[in-house]
Amino acid sequence: MSFTKLGLTPNVLEGVKAMGYTEPTPIQLRAIPLVLEGRDLIGSAQTGTGKTAAFALPILSKLKQHEHVTRALILEPTRELAAQVETAFRDYARFTDLTVAVVYGGVGYQKQIDALKSGSGVDVIVATPGRLLDHMEQGNCNLGYVQHLVLDEADRMLDMGFLPDVKRILQKCPTERQSMLFSATIPPAIETLIQWAMRNPETIEIGARRSPAETVKHVIYPVSDMQKTDLLLELLKRVNYDSVIVFCRTKHGADRVASVLKRDNHAVAVLHSNRTQREREQALDGFRQGKFEVLVATDIAARGLDIANVSHVVNFDVPQHPEDYVHRIGRTGRAENTGDAFTLMIAEDAMHVFSIERYISQQIPREKLEGFNYRYTALFEAQKANAPKPYERKVQMSRVGSGYFFGARKRR
Ligand code: AMP
Repeated sequence: MSFTKLGLTPNVLEGVKAMGYTEPTPIQLRAIPLVLEGRDLIGSAQTGTGKTAAFALPILSKLKQHEHVTRALILEPTRELAAQVETAFRDYARFTDLTVAVVYGGVGYQKQIDALKSGSGVDVIVATPGRLLDHMEQGNCNLGYVQHLVLDEADRMLDMGFLPDVKRILQKCPTERQSMLFSATIPPAIETLIQWAMRNPETIEIGARRSPAETVKHVIYPVSDMQKTDLLLELLKRVNYDSVIVFCRTKHGADRVASVLKRDNHAVAVLHSNRTQREREQALDGFRQGKFEVLVATDIAARGLDIANVSHVVNFDVPQHPEDYVHRIGRTGRAENTGDAFTLMIAEDAMHVFSIERYISQQIPREKLEGFNYRYTALFEAQKANAPKPYERKVQMSRVGSGYFFGARKRR
């Protein structure tokens, strides 16, 4: 099935061609006709599935040409995602005269005001909720003509406390509009939002929601708290990686791990919400371009970011929410590439690891790094007691679910 049969406008099709896409992904196949029909849509698909184009292409086709008023609004939970989605819209719209502006916090207002008012009104706004509200209060934009609304990564918006802002924004949009909501999970608060904001939505679900990328190999390294840093350094020394993301629980922890890695001569960038927007951009761009081989990040980087070419994810700290484990490891193993996800586990993490394993319906094998001078931890005893018998292990290790992933370069 090619893109030409889906009903997109010729200008948008040209944009798709210029991107080098030859075939629609499953979510695009299902979503594009529905969006073109004007239906409300709930999409649950992991990132890397082509979700952005699934809503951007039909929206751009429906907008057709520049009209001096904002007719499409896309809300994103983080600045990085907003910037990424804006770039995608610009890429797809490059053979149209439609205009796109992005607004997010942490940077000055003037450039955004200029963008919002370019051509006396921009067609598409991609925004994080807080800064958009500021602009609305200052009269820099008018949402009274919005026809297409997208709430992307809605569960993340909920986690980040943005739902009240989202509701205030929605109240300024016409009730006669098309709404789309994308979310990996639908907790009750999102269900309520759906009831309130959407009209008879069609739900599409692509890939098993809970299953991590099939191509990822998961390993847990039990270790005592005081040896975590040493084990990380040793792991990085031994694996042959292209680029690796190290996830930490706190901003402070991320800064500390980054400085240890720098001292060990790794080219390191740091990404967390205490960094300035400029620093965050430099970190991400540098990492994407290969200037930095290691990105140390908090969970802000785990959701949705399209970072190709990540060969390894290391969970320096075990994530406290099982969904975050899936999002973190989703940064590797994209396309048909292989990827490795290593998790350092200390005794206090046992309950969190257990919930992760239950969530992904898979027991993650525990391994010891050969020749590493381990100090004792009670975890090694627990491991012996729980060690699966060989035949059990084979079954438990089998991969569950399926996904559809794009984006990464082949590993060397
Ligand atoms: P997303 O899930 O929107 O983050 O997209 C993940 C990656 O897949 C992005 O790098 C897109 O450019 C790419 N992509 C989206 N749709 C297609 C397609 N039909 N063919 C090839 N690549 C695609």
